[in-house]
Amino acid sequence: MSFNRNVFTDKALSDAAQQSYETRDDRGNRRTYIDIEALPVPLLRIGNGEHYIDHIPTVAGENHPSKAPGTPIYVLLVFSHTGLGPNRDDFLCMAATYGKPCAACDRRNMLLDAGFDWNDIPQKYKSSKRGVYYVLCRDNQKMVETGLQVMELSHYLYEHNLSEQAKIPVLPGESPEGGLGFRPFASPEHGDTVYFKHVGKQLKSRIEGIQFIPRKFKIPDAMLETTFNNPLDRFLIFPDQEEIRQLVAEPIPEKGAQQGGSVRAGRAKEAVEAAMQAGAAAPGIGGPAGGDDQIPGPAGADYDSADADADADGYFEPGLPPDDDIPF
Ligand SMILES: [Zn+2]
Repeated sequence: MSFNRNVFTDKALSDAAQQSYETRDDRGNRRTYIDIEALPVPLLRIGNGEHYIDHIPTVAGENHPSKAPGTPIYVLLVFSHTGLGPNRDDFLCMAATYGKPCAACDRRNMLLDAGFDWNDIPQKYKSSKRGVYYVLCRDNQKMVETGLQVMELSHYLYEHNLSEQAKIPVLPGESPEGGLGFRPFASPEHGDTVYFKHVGKQLKSRIEGIQFIPRKFKIPDAMLETTFNNPLDRFLIFPDQEEIRQLVAEPIPEKGAQQGGSVRAGRAKEAVEAAMQAGAAAPGIGGPAGGDDQIPGPAGADYDSADADADADGYFEPGLPPDDDIPF
């Protein structure tokens, strides 16, 4: 190709700028456990700010972890491993979600069995609970015009608080009015818009002030038909365990040993390395792991890829019991 300065036309460079603009929110090659391309609607990842969300009900599909196909739901609860490999990809945790083998959980269990402290194990080897929803976001005109979207959020941050807030308090000895123990905020007829504030970043990320605003309109048939015919579990990507095994086959973390006082972790590291050199297979998984919730780190923008820049090691939020993992 010989030099020709005339190739740099205004049109060519305007097109290049336009292409860059249109792909400015792309997440690169970073993968997630949802097949975004196959979704019938865009994926919404919200960040800091005030949000107004209408939950649109759907039904469980063939891949739902616990409910029969056709069961009405408003959230799909799954577990994922965040930040695996050079692209910090997200993968579905097959162990915590389905009770099937998961190479990332195997890795975590191997380190635990070798004597590592829970807190010295990288967060990416622990699964975190996530909620996937069909929603209408009514934060601004652009979001309203976008219409139906799929929203994905940390269970710890959102669903945990939302379901708590939806509980209708009843005085001891009395029965709930209308027989409903929880507010049916996702009802197409009598639902509510959920208001909340998403504040802070990374470790300090939190959701505050969840409130219900009675919705003044009914969810149209066409929208319900879309969610009914497209169960969210249909879009889960079941990871190749061999690929995950390769992604987690990396040097043993030294956190405990480096921070002093953890002779135990040092010994555990030696034990694991010896086992790896001997070609020992990783111990099997011990059933659903569960309970390892983490807080996702929203990136700067309100509707950005919330976890794109997450330092997965930094978001562990201990304290939720495994019992909390029962899908709502
Ligand atoms: Zn797992």
